[in-house]
Formats: sequence, C-alpha cells, structure tokens
Amino acid sequence: MEMANCRKCRKIYARIRSQICPECEKEEEQLFSVVQDYLRDNPKAPLTQVAEATGVSAKKIMNYLREGRIEVAVPVLQCDGCGTLISTGKLCEDCQKKVASNWENMASSMRANIPAPEAQTSDGPKVTMHTRKK
Ligand SMILES: [Zn+2]
Ligand SMILES: [Zn+2]
Repeated sequence: MEMANCRKCRKIYARIRSQICPECEKEEEQLFSVVQDYLRDNPKAPLTQVAEATGVSAKKIMNYLREGRIEVAVPVLQCDGCGTLISTGKLCEDCQKKVASNWENMASSMRANIPAPEAQTSDGPKVTMHTRKK
C-alpha cells in the first residue's frame, strides 16, 4: 500500500487513487453537494453568486464545471478547441461535434480496413477470428 501525505490536511494516509485523504475527500464531496444543491434550487445563478452563497471558492466550482459535474447558466469556461465560452466540460458543442465526427471518420476508415468475415465456415470447431488493423 502506498502511503502519501494528504494534499489538503497533510495527514499521512494510505493512498488509493485520490490526492487527498478519505476524510478530506468526504469533505470535498460535501462541498460539491452543497454547490449541486444550490444549483438545483437556483439553476440560473451565475458562478460568482454560487460561490458567495455556498462559500465554496469560485476556483473549486470551476473545477466541477470542467469535470462536467455541474453546469451554470452563465458560461465561464473556455472551450479547449476554439476558446468560446461554455458552461460545462472542456469543449463547446461545435467542437464536441467536430471531435465526434473525427472519431466517426476514424472508426469508419478502420471498419473499411477490416476484411469482411468469411461467408462460409468450415465444418470444424468454430473459431472466431478477430482481425484488426491499425
Ligand atoms: Zn486530508
Ligand atoms: Zn469550441
């Protein structure tokens, strides 16, 4: 087991995946749910108001937004693709579509490279071949 110092309270704890100890993690989750609750009641509140009302720092809320966990009515994040203002996640809708269609193109060109499965199977035991070209 890996021991680590909690990034928040500096306590030594057995690290699983988080940078902070389980106690701080719980605390963080609580903060998040406060923000989440507030937004549920005030879906139109801008970021600054949310931060003020919940006592959670705007920076933290920005992180939640980046992670796509919450959404605010007034966009405060910049799209990684084109820099336009977005309200949640990393990409604006246009860039998301672009990325999606890129994936679609890649996927279909990959499919084109895969030879069609043999129409006839021999009498022997069935062996499924997975041919995949990169
Ligand atoms: Zn801690
Ligand atoms: Zn964009």
